[in-house]
Amino acid sequence: MGASQPGGPSLPQERRLVTAIPGPKSTELMTRRNAAVARGVSTTLPVFVTQAGGGVVVDVDGNSLIDFGSGIAVTSVGNSAEGVVRRASEQLQRFTHTCFMVTPYESYVAVAEQLNELTPGDHDKRTALFNSGAEAVENAVKIARAHTKRPAVVVFDHGYHGRTNLTMALTAKNMPYKESFGPFAPEVYRVPVAYPYRWLTGADNCAEEAAAQAIDMITKQIGAHNVAAVVIEPILGEGGFIEPAKGFLPRIVEFCKANGIVFVADEIQTGFCRTGQWFACDDEGIVPDLITTAKGIAGGLPLAAVTGRAEIMDSAHAGGLGGTYGGNPVACAAALGAIETMRGLDLNGAARRIGEIMLDRLGTMSEKFAEIGEVRGRGAMIAIELVKPGSKEPNAELAGAVAKACHAQGLLVLTAGTYGNVLRFLPPLVIPEHLLVEGLDVLEQAFAGSV
Ligand SMILES: *Cc1c(COP(=O)(O)O)cnc(C)c1O
Repeated sequence: MGASQPGGPSLPQERRLVTAIPGPKSTELMTRRNAAVARGVSTTLPVFVTQAGGGVVVDVDGNSLIDFGSGIAVTSVGNSAEGVVRRASEQLQRFTHTCFMVTPYESYVAVAEQLNELTPGDHDKRTALFNSGAEAVENAVKIARAHTKRPAVVVFDHGYHGRTNLTMALTAKNMPYKESFGPFAPEVYRVPVAYPYRWLTGADNCAEEAAAQAIDMITKQIGAHNVAAVVIEPILGEGGFIEPAKGFLPRIVEFCKANGIVFVADEIQTGFCRTGQWFACDDEGIVPDLITTAKGIAGGLPLAAVTGRAEIMDSAHAGGLGGTYGGNPVACAAALGAIETMRGLDLNGAARRIGEIMLDRLGTMSEKFAEIGEVRGRGAMIAIELVKPGSKEPNAELAGAVAKACHAQGLLVLTAGTYGNVLRFLPPLVIPEHLLVEGLDVLEQAFAGSV
């Protein structure tokens, strides 16, 4: 947690409510928004932002909200990190675009070098850049299919991989991501994941049994020799910050290796210091064949990547991968600024410290409130799963009510989970400690007022 980060440097790091949330100006803008913007694009917290940075988001009415969302795990370095703003601004002055496939520029290569160095494993690697997480996942599948000459892709219960046609097929949850948008891409198969809290025979059996079931389904229902790729988030994000039971991921990796299947880690949400490591795979020593990244990579500018073993990455023929904007020079400059900031401020250490403070406080809260079924997560990726007291029945109503109460008091929190009953916390890694603690105070009061 760095000192107050610029947004510019003048942006006070405080929670400040001067109107109701949303205030009159935001309410007026929402009316315009609803008349102009498609209904399918929703809004979690309808305040219109004018400035943001460090740990706060400031709205048109002058309210300053504590940010526990980071624009969905994107602004890990803050919304206006000095290094990101400086490098992106310099690039904007020089040129905005050439298309890397037409005439290249150095910053794309430098981002690829950084990714090859920072991602798990010291084997020879290559990287390709794209615009969004979903696009990166699609390309990982293309590359795995080109490499293996096999059709099938295996994904997991509670997984989330994006909103394009193929990635909707890879995503588990129907509402809101898939409902009425099919038919979906073929040759996608879903198998169980080791979800300790909800494993029927108990958390202790979870890793072994879930891996056995997944492998049995792959071998009996698909045929391992038909599988190009297994795609998994090392912590399942939208699914509710589910940490697969220890031992599950290594078992799946081992199975992939034995059967020539490309193991793809989707680290779009977990990557770039979010969990207190460069990548969540690092915690169990997992070395994926391919890794997809986006979100935290470029301090808020749109950029995504596939990085992996050179021989797999280079299976795709020249001209087979790319896109008009992929690896845009301004986004690449921003990524170099973001990575420099992560190293310079030791944001892995900051994420671990955030995790300690949050887990400690939420652990105490869970003793007070029977509705908190589980507290889980790593680093600055922490969640609480809410249930009806005395059971494990999901309590989505309470998650919604607490989130709403937090918003009204100037704390931006997000919900998640297949059952909609998870409150997730993703503060910027540069949030000042006093705001983190104040945010947790607001959360506890919101909880006490909602149960
Ligand atoms: C957000 C997310 C995606 C999709 O990224 P977009 O940039 O929204 O396309 C894919 N996988 C995971 C794990 C994500 O969290």
